Amino acid sequence: MVDTIAKRDIRKLKLEELKDFFVQQGEKAFRAQQVYEWLWMKSAKSFEQMTNISLDTREVLSQHFVINHIKVDKMQRSSDGTIKNAVTLHDGLIVESVLIPAEKRITACVSSQVGCSLACKFCATARLKRQRNLSVDEIYDQVVAIKEQAELFYGRPLTNIVFMGMGEPLLNYANVLSAIEKITAQKGLNMASRRITVSTVGVAKMIKKMADDEVKFNLAVSLHSALNETRSSIMPINDTNPLEELADALRYWYQKTKSKVTYEYVVWKGINDTEEHAKALLKFAKVVPSKVNLIEYNPIDDGEFQQASDEALNMYMDILEKSGITTRIRKSRGKDIDAACGQLANKS
Ligand code: SAH
Repeated sequence: MVDTIAKRDIRKLKLEELKDFFVQQGEKAFRAQQVYEWLWMKSAKSFEQMTNISLDTREVLSQHFVINHIKVDKMQRSSDGTIKNAVTLHDGLIVESVLIPAEKRITACVSSQVGCSLACKFCATARLKRQRNLSVDEIYDQVVAIKEQAELFYGRPLTNIVFMGMGEPLLNYANVLSAIEKITAQKGLNMASRRITVSTVGVAKMIKKMADDEVKFNLAVSLHSALNETRSSIMPINDTNPLEELADALRYWYQKTKSKVTYEYVVWKGINDTEEHAKALLKFAKVVPSKVNLIEYNPIDDGEFQQASDEALNMYMDILEKSGITTRIRKSRGKDIDAACGQLANKS
């Protein structure tokens, strides 16, 4: 009795496995290719959409499989055009993803985990327990949803993807990598790897693994301090991955990939707003070719952290730029709807 068999999520199957299924059903293997294209390249949400597949075959598929597509349950639009999506997964858990429009680009900021295990003191997501990793299709679907919104609301294509939503991408490395493979595949979304950035808290071992895998996307590291004592006090990951190990991993990364590293860095009042800190950052930024994004702090309600003064930011700019480190000050987007960096926390 087919009905009593638990239906499998069809997107968990590799193309080869789907071919085997078709052959077992007495069908031609090339049907699997067609179905696979519907599932990934055309992001079909149901078997009915697969119009070049016979009705009988679609019926067989729906008896054996389901397509667990994410659902965008709530969409909020910021006064600056940023769109935040609350996305419901098939098991009812929720993550958030963000569309960030700019003059020349539209960026999707996607989540990699439900919650986060890292406990960075300044981040709202850190207050949610890490519940689970997102699957390949759940990551892929967030990109698809934002790609559709970019076309619908802005009449422009999605151009960039950043893994800067909820969770730590390098602690869900295999799925993030497979999702990126599908996003960049010709029979997927056909996007360029160099327009994708994975942002990490700095898991040294995994940065080396990425280097070994010779990945083609960009690496961003959330640094926030280049002094161990300060960094450990705001980012507990630094206790097990101190700056020396991070630097080692980044040297290895650069040696293998020849790809510049971007450092994300917030300057906070009374925490890292002195020259000593700026000089430490300069030294760290010279470990491998890099650039620095000084990002605006987005308050997460308790007032423990406060954005440093403009003078402090200018002091950082001076010190870094004088030594030839490209440095940009990044204004937040989507703050009014809690869609900015570090604000994603499923308030809805
Ligand atoms: N876990 C990954 C990706 C998620 S965080 C990482 O740590 O890189 C995305 C970026 O937002 C990181 O650089 C993070 O340090 C930064 N961030 C977190 N909370 C923030 C806040 N309240 N204001 C500004 N940036 C924040």
